[in-house]
Amino acid sequence: MQDLSRETLTFRQPSERDRAADAPAGLVQAGRRRRRRAVQLGRRDVALSAVGFRDAQPLRSALRQGHILRGLHEPRLGISYNELEPYYDRFEYCYGISGKAGNIKGVLQPGGNPFEGARSREFPLPPHPVSHAGHLYSEAAKAMGYHPFPIPAATASRAYKNIYGSTINGCVYCGFCSSHACEMGAKGNVQSAVLPVLMGDKNFELRTHARVMKVNLDSSGKRAVSVTYVDAQGREVEQPAELILLMSYVFGNVRLMMLSGIGERYDPVANRGVVGRNYAYQVVSHVNLNFEDKIFNQFMGAGGMGISIDDFNGDNYDHAGLGFVGGGRTVVSTGG
Ligand SMILES: Cc1cc2nc3c(=O)[nH]c(=O)nc-3n(C[C@H](O)[C@H](O)[C@H](O)COP(=O)(O)OP(=O)(O)OC[C@H]3O[C@@H](n4cnc5c(N)ncnc54)[C@H](O)[C@@H]3O)c2cc1C
Ligand code: SF4
Repeated sequence: MQDLSRETLTFRQPSERDRAADAPAGLVQAGRRRRRRAVQLGRRDVALSAVGFRDAQPLRSALRQGHILRGLHEPRLGISYNELEPYYDRFEYCYGISGKAGNIKGVLQPGGNPFEGARSREFPLPPHPVSHAGHLYSEAAKAMGYHPFPIPAATASRAYKNIYGSTINGCVYCGFCSSHACEMGAKGNVQSAVLPVLMGDKNFELRTHARVMKVNLDSSGKRAVSVTYVDAQGREVEQPAELILLMSYVFGNVRLMMLSGIGERYDPVANRGVVGRNYAYQVVSHVNLNFEDKIFNQFMGAGGMGISIDDFNGDNYDHAGLGFVGGGRTVVSTGG
């Protein structure tokens, strides 16, 4: 959602090519066509497809097995799935995630994902209805001995009042989730779940069109004390703060940290430093299937409406000796 007429986003390939800065294709949506959205209030969760998995589980599994990919430095996470679980739970009850639990406190639940990490309770909303494609996939997966389950989605399967008292409306399956804002207010995101309540708080002030250029440190260089931003009129403003949260996505955060002299910059040659190290994102590939005797209405559905299997994810299956960690989940989805 970046406006390329004003600035760009780049990352650099290995050091021998470090003068060639590439736009990270696929990670960022940008350009003239999207400019109106680039200045729209909100974050990228305005336009996401709203697939709402908890993704710490396969990572935890790979780490538990001690797998390290050749060429990838050992991850230093220092946090476990169980420590993250209460925050996943709170997030799901804030954004109104629709789904079916597969494991509550260690007890497997019929209809959910038997491979998921233990949840403290059921999803706040039931899963979306199953589409024609979802039914076919589910039946085929079951016949092959796999374990299909509904994809968790941050689109509300019915109207939901969240933990802050905000109402997220029920999805009407218009099929326009991905890359579009929701006209129904049915996506769980900052707009629907948090801002309506925050805007009514007299202690809260929202400043739009404020582009942060730098985090300013005190004389010790150890404590952040203010940010400098440029407002819509091009004026530089210094805003003092007790607490500063960097939330400009990982590229923006790393860039701001480097510009502000915070942390040790990653040096791939010396293998030192953490700022800018080990970027990871979702890797998705698609297969389109055509059937001579079946019709699927791709204009009805939601981005996160579909069926998945986790049988080939993490260490849920035996891939010893095949030379990779992780694996992946397969998904059939309709619309969005
Ligand atoms: C089309 C699309 C579909 C997606 N579908 C899914 C999905 O189905 N499921 C899923 O889990 N994820 C999905 N994603 C990914 C997901 O949306 C992002 O990973 C997530 O929103 C990132 O959140 P964030 O808060 O880190 O950053 P962002 O949401 O990118 O928010 C960063 C904010 O910081 C602002 N900003 C940046 N630099 C500055 C600065 N210097 N000063 C002030 N503000 C600044 C930006 O304008 C932006 O508002 C999708 C993404 C896209 C684009
Ligand atoms: S399918 Fe349409 S109505 Fe439902 S959440 Fe997506 S954009 Fe909103």
